[in-house]
Amino acid sequence: MKTPPRETDFVVIGAGVAGLRAAIELAAAGRVLVLAKREVTESNTQYAQGGIAAALSDEDEVTLHYQDTLNAGAGLCNPEAAHVLVEEGPERIEELIRWGTEFDRSGTKLAFTREGAHSRDRILHAHGDSTGREILRALYAKAKTLHHISVCEFEFSTDLHIEHDRVGGISLMSDKGVHEHVSASGVLLATGGLGQLYRNTTNPNVATADGVAMAYRAGAEISDMEFIQFHPTALYLRTAPRFLLSEALRGEGAYLRNLEMVRFMPKYHELAELAPRDVVARAIVHELEVSRATDPVVYLDLTHLRAEHLKKRFPRIYSTCMQYNVDITTDLIPIRPAAHYAMGGVKTDLEGRTNVAGLYAAGEAAATGVHGANRLASNSLLEGLVFGARAGMHMRSELKTSPKHKEEKHRPAASNGPVDTSTENLIRQMQDLMWNKVGIVRDGSGLRTAIQELQGFTAKTAYAQSRRAYEAKNINLAGLLVARSALAREESRGAHYRLDFPDRNDARFLKHSVVRGESVQFE
Ligand SMILES: Cc1cc2nc3c(=O)[nH]c(=O)nc-3n(C[C@H](O)[C@H](O)[C@H](O)COP(=O)(O)OP(=O)(O)OC[C@H]3O[C@@H](n4cnc5c(N)ncnc54)[C@H](O)[C@@H]3O)c2cc1C
Repeated sequence: MKTPPRETDFVVIGAGVAGLRAAIELAAAGRVLVLAKREVTESNTQYAQGGIAAALSDEDEVTLHYQDTLNAGAGLCNPEAAHVLVEEGPERIEELIRWGTEFDRSGTKLAFTREGAHSRDRILHAHGDSTGREILRALYAKAKTLHHISVCEFEFSTDLHIEHDRVGGISLMSDKGVHEHVSASGVLLATGGLGQLYRNTTNPNVATADGVAMAYRAGAEISDMEFIQFHPTALYLRTAPRFLLSEALRGEGAYLRNLEMVRFMPKYHELAELAPRDVVARAIVHELEVSRATDPVVYLDLTHLRAEHLKKRFPRIYSTCMQYNVDITTDLIPIRPAAHYAMGGVKTDLEGRTNVAGLYAAGEAAATGVHGANRLASNSLLEGLVFGARAGMHMRSELKTSPKHKEEKHRPAASNGPVDTSTENLIRQMQDLMWNKVGIVRDGSGLRTAIQELQGFTAKTAYAQSRRAYEAKNINLAGLLVARSALAREESRGAHYRLDFPDRNDARFLKHSVVRGESVQFE
């Protein structure tokens, strides 16, 4: 395992699609240290199944992709960011193909599929349902050919250093619990999502909102945290993680059935199973609530579809479910919704710049406003590529003018210690609280309770002595940011649904939430 240097030109925290793409750009200008807190293969990118959207087919146009993105965003997309995404997306994907990404083809031509709310077939996929894994493989292989890039795994970044009002580097804690400082001219946060704030999530364990929490502690503005996309269909078995069952399954004709075996979606929406994700997720919550079972589920039913086609089209889903003795071609699959994607994050401009000099953010950790109040399916891998590259280009140009920072001394070692059950319990309590009070259906009284209880946990997370304790601290802080933003937005829009304010209110809230210190403003 590589040891990180004490001084470098650029630090990129995160080795998913956004971090690696930025690093490739930065390598032309200086030394780049890329950090992953576990293996490079443990990230949201690695688990992305369905695909990546881009207007590359003969039947498609960037203006249509642009319009679909805006429609999904429920009035809140930043039009300039959406424009950049769809305009630069095709070029970034062609570059990926040149770097060896093997997207699925039909004969020699790229194979495009369609997902909910896309008006054209524009989703590229790889190895059926392993798109993220293939993109990550190719980006990592490309990064390894560039001598200036060092990728260090199992390095956990705890905080940012602010010196003379700009970022001068980071603190990190090794898996042995040793604290180190790394000084750098620029830092990019590409730390991914925050699904682990919730009891049920499709995100891997690394998704604990560390980037948002570090940025907030460093004085960065945080935006749109109330908008969290809950995926309607995650595998729900006591013994299994909440494995995502892609929307593409419903695209292929899967039905949703309740415990009485009734296909319930037609009564909630004219598009039935193909209704928008938030509508399907809320319909499932309602079906679970009205069911009298103690641990209710609903089912995804593919049994009427051709078995051979399902195995070929969804090899990873098929084999993962088989590990838990669920044969998707013959069995009903027990499911529940799960936290999936964060539209909000560290507020940036179109070059990835935050309001803190020298600090950048890209990918799921960032909020450019590109997704508005709800992300269009398969736009997030694309966002990581496009805005990761842009952040890298801008950091490169800024290096020339930024001062070099002196090397920092090591801090004393802190023990990682054995697994601390009190930290695990604390995390579990916060995840339950977030799920119950700041989840798919919210209201003012639940949100106020959540804020009060999270504030009560803050003191317990203050003096973090291990990586897991830092994660607890970050979950607590990010949870508060989500809950406060959700309480302030007194309307329902996109992925944010308030029982006490069920309607959209454009007069007051056609704006982004921005958290500065303790206050939430709309602008
Ligand atoms: C199951 C699943 C399926 C999905 N399917 C799709 C899809 O089909 N299409 C699509 O467009 N999107 C999909 N998404 C969303 C998409 O995968 C993510 O939004 C995107 O990959 C995020 O990329 P990223 O580079 O921002 O972060 P990630 O890929 O999550 O990478 C984060 C990196 O940051 C590192 N990190 C985090 N904190 C620290 C720290 N404190 N110190 C050091 N390193 C740290 C992690 O180790 C990791 O390397 C899916 C997501 C999931 C979970």
